Amino acid sequence: MGLMSGKKCLVMGIANKRSIAWGIAQALHREGAELAFTYQNDRLKENVVELVQTLDGHENMPLIPCDVSSDESIEQCFAALGEKWGKLDVLAHSLAYARTEDIQNDFVNIPREGYRIAMEISAWSLIACARHAKPLMEAAGGGSIMTLSYLAAERVVDKYNIMAPAKAALECNVRYLAAELGEKNIRVNAISAGPIKTLAASAVKGVAKLRDIVEERSPLHRNVTIEEVGDVGLFLASGLSRCITGETIYADNGFNIRGV
Ligand code: NAD
Repeated sequence: MGLMSGKKCLVMGIANKRSIAWGIAQALHREGAELAFTYQNDRLKENVVELVQTLDGHENMPLIPCDVSSDESIEQCFAALGEKWGKLDVLAHSLAYARTEDIQNDFVNIPREGYRIAMEISAWSLIACARHAKPLMEAAGGGSIMTLSYLAAERVVDKYNIMAPAKAALECNVRYLAAELGEKNIRVNAISAGPIKTLAASAVKGVAKLRDIVEERSPLHRNVTIEEVGDVGLFLASGLSRCITGETIYADNGFNIRGV
């Protein structure tokens, strides 16, 4: 019996084997969770299929398309999951997007459209997913929703630009959702992960430099891995964290506590 035996978990945001969502999926799988996955589009589907096929019992794991830029796609995704499972215990929302030019240009030049896109995909999508997960989690007697954030939500990190206000909004969404969904025994939390080389992170110039700084200055003097962030995701998914909601938990080897 694992920590997650009998628990139905939906993992959103796998692009490839470096994705944080894949670290979370592996940790949940190790502890006996039943898994379902979404993929953004046909281009990424192949990667997700290939990874999922490495898991025992993959034949029974639903793989559902979901592009959060489309209301219809979100609705169809959760309707399909509802038909297959009827309930949901855990939702791991590990996705974000901003146009490269809006991340790399000066903050003062972020245009209206770039701001809208980043906010919609990276912050609002959590609200939309939580709305559709809610009835399925009510059917399970409660649930745990988690999302992924970054230090730039709170402090200025050079080059992070538009993703910073998107993460700040995301963390605020976590608190408001937690306050509202608590009466249904649904918990909502964020993991603020240290920098990891992933597809999404490649849009932020200087991630390698950020990782060097973390290695030098974080109390544990090393960078985090997707497996480590996955274990924090497992903790938030499991009953071990049953008294925690509305929080942003740092998984960054302590980097965030440093001042001068
Ligand atoms: P990743 O590129 O592996 O994952 C990002 C995912 O977002 C991809 O699977 C992509 O398909 C998905 N996505 C983008 N637009 C989408 C849309 N319209 N509909 C559905 N899915 C969409 O990178 P990652 O680093 O694993 O990112 C996962 C989360 O972790 C993101 O929220 C990211 O901001 C956050 N995060 C990353 C780091 C880091 O350094 N890598 C640090 C802290 C937080």
